[in-house]
Amino acid sequence: MTARQHAYVGRFAPSPTGSLHLGSLLAAVGSFVDARHHGGRWLVRMEDLDTTRVVRGCADDMLRMLEAFALHWDGTVQYQSARTPHYRQALEELTRRNLTFECSCTRQERLPHGGYPGTCRAGPRRSGPTATRFRVGDERIEFADRIQGACTFSLGQLGDVVVRRRDGVIAYQLAVVVDDALQAVTHVVRGADLLDNTPWQLALQRALGLPVPGYAHLPLVVEAHRGKLAKSRRALAVQAGNPGALLHQVLTLLGQQPPAELKAEPAGSVLAWAAEHWRPGSMLGVREVAASP
Ligand code: GLU
Repeated sequence: MTARQHAYVGRFAPSPTGSLHLGSLLAAVGSFVDARHHGGRWLVRMEDLDTTRVVRGCADDMLRMLEAFALHWDGTVQYQSARTPHYRQALEELTRRNLTFECSCTRQERLPHGGYPGTCRAGPRRSGPTATRFRVGDERIEFADRIQGACTFSLGQLGDVVVRRRDGVIAYQLAVVVDDALQAVTHVVRGADLLDNTPWQLALQRALGLPVPGYAHLPLVVEAHRGKLAKSRRALAVQAGNPGALLHQVLTLLGQQPPAELKAEPAGSVLAWAAEHWRPGSMLGVREVAASP
């Protein structure tokens, strides 16, 4: 591996809980093109820890779809379900440092805006199964997002985040920081729906002494009448029938102004054009983009 390749490691980390939809294709394309533009590596990681939501066969379908769009990844695909010992170790480390506590609260007991009021900080209120929360300080977290610009969040307002669910499943926030570090990811490029998760991830990285990647949050695809496409269960699955045209649409949503002729080109050529002409600055501060119905 050359020094140049080491300088940039990006990744696409889908949850195999449904077919690849326009929002996830946009995250895949944005992270892929940014990596290739920088001469970097691009990894794929299946975030399949939540067994209650994982759909059988979905990961394979997603990988086939990525290949159909010429989104060829480097190395082997990692599956979080096979990496639990790493997350357990990180959890033990947090606990050893007295940064976790057990919590018996249910989802209904959260504050209206979703924050956690610290109810069980001194010990679980009820007996029975508990989740493990990461204790956060009352501080501001600031970071420079390459697309969203300067971001400031109050960790205290976001609240103590769950790192192990009451059913024992390691939560996304912990797994993602462990894997980004172990896979030596230098650049995280993903959808803006995860922007407000970033402060927790930065706090966890600091607590665990992990390196901090750069962040770039791509605009979220919304459809005028149906709210967030990326979050909607009914979000339309993408079809690989005409990959060049769909990639053209995705690049347009990403503010890249691809020439119309590219629509008829094979996926690989469209992506090569995008990597050469990539201008993430044209999305500066854009949180949402509307897909034509
Ligand atoms: N697995 C997450 C999702 O599909 C993305 C995680 C990430 O990119 O950090 O929403």
